[in-house]
Formats: sequence, C-alpha cells, structure tokens
Amino acid sequence: MKVLSGKKAAAEIKEWCKNEVSKMKEKTGSVPHLLVLQYGEDAASKAYVNRIKKNCETIGIEFEYQQFTSSTDDFLEKLQSANENPDITSIMVQQPLPEELKMSLEMINPSKDIEGITSASLGKLFAGYNTLVPCTAEACMEIIDYYDIPLKGQRAVVVGRSNIVGKPVSILLQQQHATVTMCHSRTRDLNFELKHADIIIAAVGRPRLITGDMIAEDSIVIDVGTNFVDGKLIGDVDYESASEKASMITPVPGGVGTVTNQVLIRNIVKSFKNLHQL
Ligand code: NAP
Repeated sequence: MKVLSGKKAAAEIKEWCKNEVSKMKEKTGSVPHLLVLQYGEDAASKAYVNRIKKNCETIGIEFEYQQFTSSTDDFLEKLQSANENPDITSIMVQQPLPEELKMSLEMINPSKDIEGITSASLGKLFAGYNTLVPCTAEACMEIIDYYDIPLKGQRAVVVGRSNIVGKPVSILLQQQHATVTMCHSRTRDLNFELKHADIIIAAVGRPRLITGDMIAEDSIVIDVGTNFVDGKLIGDVDYESASEKASMITPVPGGVGTVTNQVLIRNIVKSFKNLHQL
C-alpha cells in the first residue's frame, strides 16, 4: 500500500509560485495582492485566514484582511471597490456568511475569484474553458497527477456533490476520461457503488464514513474529509481499515488539504498573470 502524501506535490507548487512571483516583480514592478473579507466572528475561518496569510508572505504575495461585524453595507461596498481596484488581484470572501450576504459570493469579479466559486467560474469549468478552478477539487487532481495515477477509462466514484468539491472534481475527472459516478446522501447503495470503483474521492464531511469493507481490493482512495473529532483531524475514510484494502490512499492530515493550501496560492498567481496578460 502506497501513502499518497500531499507534501511533495505541495512543495513543487510552492516552488513554482515563488519563481513566478519573482519573475512578475521583475516584469511589472508589482506582485499579486490578495484581499480576504470576513463578516462576523468565526474562529475556524480566522485560523484558516492566518494560514493563508503565512503562505502568502512566504511567497511574497501582498495580503490584506478586513473583518466586518456590524454594517453589511460596508462589507458590500468594500467588495465592490475591490472588484474594480486594479491593485487588488485576488479576492476571497470567507464563509460562513449571514443569509443576507450569501449572494455576495456571486458578486466577486470572476477574474479575481481565486476559489473558483462564482457561477461564471464554475460555468467555464463545466464548458471546458480555461478558468480558476475550486482549489480542493484541483488538489485531488494534482495528487492523481503527481503519482501518475491513470484515469482514462477508470471507474471513479465521487462521494459528495458540493459545488466546491464533489461537482468540480467530477468534471475534472471526466476531462481526464474517467467514468464518473456521483454519490450523495440519497444514494441507494453506497457500498455497491464503492465496491465497483477503481478510484474513490470522498468529500462528505462524515468522519470515517467509508471503511475498508466497503471498498474494492487495490482501489485508490483520495480522502478530502476534514473532521474534528475529540480535537483530532480525521478524514471521511477510516484510514486504518481502508489502508489494508487500498493500493494507494491519502492521509488526513498531510494529503489533500496540504495540496489545497498551495493550489490556492497558485490561483492567486494565476489571477495576477491573467489580469496583467502575462
Ligand atoms: P458539503 O457541502 O457539506 O457536502 C457534503 C456532501 O456529502 C453532500 O453532497 C451530501 O449529500 C453528501 N453526504 C452527506 N452524508 C452522506 C452520506 N451518509 N452518504 C453519502 N453522501 C453523503 O461538504 P463539502 O464542502 O464538499 O466538504 C466535504 C468534506 O471535505 C468536509 O469534511 C470538509 O471539511 C472537507 N473539505 C476539505 C477541504 C480540504 O482542503 N481538505 C476543502 C473543502 C472541504 P447531499 O447533497 O445529498 O446532501
């Protein structure tokens, strides 16, 4: 059984970003600038933002964070001005958002939408055009590519159909000629679907939902899940039992999440390149 660590793939992306940013600085005299907007207090989201800040600083990307706690108008005004400001090349709106601000995600300028979450970005992905792709979906593909896992004609089963992971990863897998089955909470027989999978992408948010007895011998398992149980980070797959059956498996932590962090940085670099037509 091979452990599909995300560390080396992430390190390669990081190196690429570093080189690109120093080339950009030479060519344009400027570097990418990320604005993160948050409405309200959410500790997990703030911790995530701090990690992004650190990653940006290591690469030489300008980082700006603004938090709003009272006026939703101020929040929307800042978003609108950032959309138009050429110095701000990337925008992230942190979730969770109050109901009345949920549509603000749709307002993000698609050229600056580094999480690939607007319907414009997702539509382009669906149509097969070049676009900024949701980071976690892309991170799954990075791992598959890094370890030379063949996809053509393979049976891939994606568990979870969210707009940010399940659906986009299913499109990316199809683009690489996999035969994709989507599973979700109403899937009649998850065990049956999993037993017929060559590759499983688990993006559910249910700790250890998928166990070794549910998967086929020698299948490949990519675990997107990040669940905190008793203060410990665990995946959607029961690593212990699944690793006895699978031929390859991503660990949690140290798998998809590690690559996702660097794919986000790469999207910041890409958005700058697109905006400056580099
Ligand atoms: P989400 O929006 O909550 O979607 C969960 C999906 O799982 C839904 O489609 C749901 O089905 C399906 N589901 C729920 N229970 C199920 C069950 N018992 N059997 C089969 N399917 C079931 O979640 P998400 O945002 O995609 O995130 C999924 C997981 O990935 C979470 O653990 C999240 O923390 C993690 N995540 C990790 C990263 C990373 O960088 N590593 C990034 C993003 C998310 P319905 O559609 O029918 O409700």
